[in-house]
Amino acid sequence: MSTTYRGRQIKALAVRGRPDQRRLTINGHTTNHGWQGDDAQALDYFRQIIDRIEELGGAGVVVAATPTYGQYTSPHWYEPGAIDINPNGHATRPGGICLCNRCSTVDTSRFGPLPVDACRHCHQQPNDHRNDYNLMNTHFYKEPTETQRAGRQAAIDEAARLTALHDDVRELENQLYAEDPSDRADAYLALQAMGAMEEDQP
Ligand SMILES: [Zn+2]
Ligand SMILES: [Zn+2]
Repeated sequence: MSTTYRGRQIKALAVRGRPDQRRLTINGHTTNHGWQGDDAQALDYFRQIIDRIEELGGAGVVVAATPTYGQYTSPHWYEPGAIDINPNGHATRPGGICLCNRCSTVDTSRFGPLPVDACRHCHQQPNDHRNDYNLMNTHFYKEPTETQRAGRQAAIDEAARLTALHDDVRELENQLYAEDPSDRADAYLALQAMGAMEEDQP
């Protein structure tokens, strides 16, 4: 049995001498060598997992909701080209982050949104793409999909917007501590207008 479900290619392959068993693969990755069941049951098994993954937030997010914290980090669980792959090799939404233990505890600056033209299959850029960066997944650079580009660009824009907003707030806070009382009053009103301060603060 070979079919596509929600963008994932899934297969249930015969196991020699074991008609009651199947070898299960998703996007070319073997998840079970001797799974007990027939083709229809195998399809159902994958459907349930994939539906659950999407229901719980999809790539990068489902990991925080699964009983084994950090489950489904691997890219093979997702539709190729519809996710990004961070430097830890974990799947994220395009431009997104992975909430697993490992990715949330390392230096997160390395895990900002991928550059818009980063490879479809990894986090590397075209000009210095190392084909053997990941020995489990050697490949040539491939153009990202439109889904990947759009997600990365949106995340980059959002990060820039938040940085600018943060700088504005800091500037106004500096004015609050200024010597000139008129500067202080202006800054207070400006901050209040931005919603950066609680209404009931003195
Ligand atoms: Zn991760
Ligand atoms: Zn690549």
